[in-house]
Amino acid sequence: MKKQKTIIVVGGGVGGLELVTRLGNSLGKSKIADIILVDRYHSHIWKPILHEVASGSINTNLKSISYFNHAYKNYFQFYLGELQDVDKERKTITISTMICRKDGKIFKKELKFDILVIALGSISNDFSIEGVKKYCIFLDNLEQANLLRNKMINLFIAKSSKREHKFDEMKIAIVGGGATGIELCAELLNTLHYLNKYKFEGYNNYQLKIYLLEAENRILPSLSESISQDVHNELEKIGISVLTKTKVNKVSQSELQTSSSKKIHADLIVWAAGIKVQDFIKRIDGISTNRINQIIVQPTLQSISDDTIFAIGDCAFLQEDKGGYVPPRAQAAHQMANICYKNILSMLERKKLKKYFYKDRGFLISLSKFNTVGSIFVDSINKEIPVCGKIARILYLSLYRRHQVTIQGLIRTGLSIVSDNLDKYLRSNHLNLY
Ligand SMILES: Cc1cc2nc3c(=O)[nH]c(=O)nc-3n(C[C@H](O)[C@H](O)[C@H](O)COP(=O)(O)OP(=O)(O)OC[C@H]3O[C@@H](n4cnc5c(N)ncnc54)[C@H](O)[C@@H]3O)c2cc1C
Repeated sequence: MKKQKTIIVVGGGVGGLELVTRLGNSLGKSKIADIILVDRYHSHIWKPILHEVASGSINTNLKSISYFNHAYKNYFQFYLGELQDVDKERKTITISTMICRKDGKIFKKELKFDILVIALGSISNDFSIEGVKKYCIFLDNLEQANLLRNKMINLFIAKSSKREHKFDEMKIAIVGGGATGIELCAELLNTLHYLNKYKFEGYNNYQLKIYLLEAENRILPSLSESISQDVHNELEKIGISVLTKTKVNKVSQSELQTSSSKKIHADLIVWAAGIKVQDFIKRIDGISTNRINQIIVQPTLQSISDDTIFAIGDCAFLQEDKGGYVPPRAQAAHQMANICYKNILSMLERKKLKKYFYKDRGFLISLSKFNTVGSIFVDSINKEIPVCGKIARILYLSLYRRHQVTIQGLIRTGLSIVSDNLDKYLRSNHLNLY
């Protein structure tokens, strides 16, 4: 009997989980190939909601998907582990697993593949600026989002326990005027609203000053000027201090120093200024990467170094014909997962592989309960149109629901919308503090 092929997807994020689910339900179910997912965590969370986790706006229990359970239902196998190395000659990957950190034991395992898909996503880029790693909080995963929320709540508790007459204003600096930084600003103001409403620790007049720092001359530099201006105006309207042309060149315990020698004091500093791929990727023998460690891929999403290794999502670098490159966005990861799926099927059938072209469907920025602003691309008129308010909010939320439909199907997604709303109604849960 012919030996089954083994296809390994490393990283069960936006792109990886969509891809492995589809591979499982086709090749895995019909026993054409063994499908394996490797992820360093045991459950999946849609990364674009991390700022809502950090601010306590959502209940993560309802939003996470257990990889073991999902794998069982979708005909693939899950390995908990962190990718350490790829041996492209022997066609193996090495992963390490550590279940109980207290034991400190790390188990290494080697897995053989015929086709490998790397979908590791990205992490925040500290650009080797002094103090960033040590003093800033990042928003790259659930652990960090929870850490940010806990630190903020601790600071509110500390400030309220010390106060005599007037609450000392809490200052938060967010470095990076991209979507992550902006959405976090608005969510934190929403948290403040609820802390005061609920009389957290007995007080209802907490104050929060948020600085949003951006090195370029406008926020959202990768989007159109009009969206950037609209969002800037909205942020100022809700009381955020937006400081553009402000490059941070040093961070200490509670202070940022800018290139113009200005010093900004902050109780909490969040770093969301650009992305890179984890450093170990560039040390893997024979895989070509760019300056931010992204794996350089061909238009078919195969790495330029090896046709049996694909890369998708934030960790892939694809230079487009027009000279631009595919941006690190959830919609790009979703589109790449779709083409990669088709290309893996074509590869097994020895057919020609498809080229991936990024289709910009527009971009929406959620400013929590205050507003949603952005633009969407309308195919029928071949134009991008600006949207805001309720319609923009519905479109923004539909991004997550579309991801859910791809991995859980229409019925489960419908049920999950009902359960989310029931949860909100029954528990009146507007703030998940702990
Ligand atoms: C707060 C925030 C808001 C955002 N908002 C938007 C938005 O509104 N619209 C938009 O288009 N994009 C948004 N993004 C960007 C979007 O989240 C990413 O572009 C998208 O998640 C990339 O998908 P991915 O599959 O490449 O990686 P990810 O979704 O990041 O998944 C990577 C997976 O790899 C796993 N992993 C990492 N390292 C290892 C390892 N060594 N071994 C094993 N597993 C590993 C991780 O656990 C994770 O499951 C936002 C990002 C953030 C942080």
